[in-house]
Amino acid sequence: MSSYHPLTEAEAVEIAKSIPNVLQPDQEIVCREIGDGNLNLVFHVRQPSTGASLILKQALPYAKVVGESWPLTLDRSRIESEALQIQAKLAPGLVPAVYRYDADLALTVMEDLSDHVIMRRGLIEGGIYPKFAEHISEFMARTLFFTSDLGMNQQEKKLLSKSFVNPELCKITEDLIFDDPYTNSPNNSFDEHLREEAQALWSDTALHLEVALLRDKFLTSAQALLHGDLHTGSIFITPESTKVIDPEFAYFGPMGFDIGAVIGNLLLNYASQEHWSSDEASRRERRAYLLGTVRDVWNLFESKFRKIWDENVIDRMARTEGYQDHYVRRLLQDTVGFAGCKMVRRIVGLSHVADIDTIPNPAVRAKAQRIALSIGTSMIKQNRDTRSIDEIIDMADTAV
Ligand code: ADP
Ligand code: MG
Ligand code: MG
Ligand code: MG
Repeated sequence: MSSYHPLTEAEAVEIAKSIPNVLQPDQEIVCREIGDGNLNLVFHVRQPSTGASLILKQALPYAKVVGESWPLTLDRSRIESEALQIQAKLAPGLVPAVYRYDADLALTVMEDLSDHVIMRRGLIEGGIYPKFAEHISEFMARTLFFTSDLGMNQQEKKLLSKSFVNPELCKITEDLIFDDPYTNSPNNSFDEHLREEAQALWSDTALHLEVALLRDKFLTSAQALLHGDLHTGSIFITPESTKVIDPEFAYFGPMGFDIGAVIGNLLLNYASQEHWSSDEASRRERRAYLLGTVRDVWNLFESKFRKIWDENVIDRMARTEGYQDHYVRRLLQDTVGFAGCKMVRRIVGLSHVADIDTIPNPAVRAKAQRIALSIGTSMIKQNRDTRSIDEIIDMADTAV
């Protein structure tokens, strides 16, 4: 095996050729680097004559952020490929197939999903995904339950967790999601028209307490193997199919962090409809679709999780009367709190979302940003009092 270096397109083609039974080595092969280039290289290798194709994802030893480079472990590539393989077993058909992992090159060769679109882009363009809630709730219920102490032998789980400690990527989350947005940090980045709102976040001590409690869960609750970065940019979608990619942030953490990522990103798109819907009637319709999806994601998650629990729970103590109800209520509360944190950081923190940042008119963008901040901070503040997802739906409905 060759020692680590960022691959050229020609090298990517040679590696792709060595994957058995995909490309014809004697026919033309084209290669394009399609990643956004911040953390990883993504090569799309395709044979025009047969249509066969592969994706090669290679980790870079640094993260490029606003012109600066932060060193970042290549081991995240192993974590990503191992997480994808665990998820493929637990949630068949909902992640890309992995064909090879090369530790020396920090490289994963996987199924090409170019016939899908990235969900963030699809939602911006007004796409409707009737199977999404069903698929993503299935993905989360199965991967989270079967890697938790409810669905997995507790000793095996502790041993497995050694492979997913992931301190460097967790640190990114700890800083960018649970710290910077709540103080005047040089990492923050926001439109100048939001300065007052940002300063309000920095001085809101009741909000800080809730964020500190959520951060505490992120730091200490090794509930299940999370995806760790389950926003709509990590989901490939069509009306019929859903595939989850990019689990390089995977670690054993609180389940609500994944569920909250999905719901928070649906609500960011909801806020962005100030621009993306062309008139009031279509905006109302679009927002009803998005809130319906939020409700379905939670309700389907809950019913699937409870059913899997009833059928698979591994020990006597987990069958204790009242335990499941308590567990699910706490999960909803964590989900709501983490969703709120995900929203706030995408408005005032380092890394934003295209749903909101590509709104060209500053006044309309400001309105969308204020809606997102209002929903996000409400979710953080009421997370521990939440009893039903409908409370969140009603709050989001009145925030616009
Ligand atoms: P990063 O960790 O750098 O965000 P991603 O895994 O999210 O990398 O991939 C970045 C982009 O590369 C995706 O948004 C998508 O456009 C493309 N990509 C990644 N994996 C695949 C795949 N399996 N099939 C097709 N395109 C992919
Ligand atoms: Mg990504
Ligand atoms: Mg990534
Ligand atoms: Mg990103």
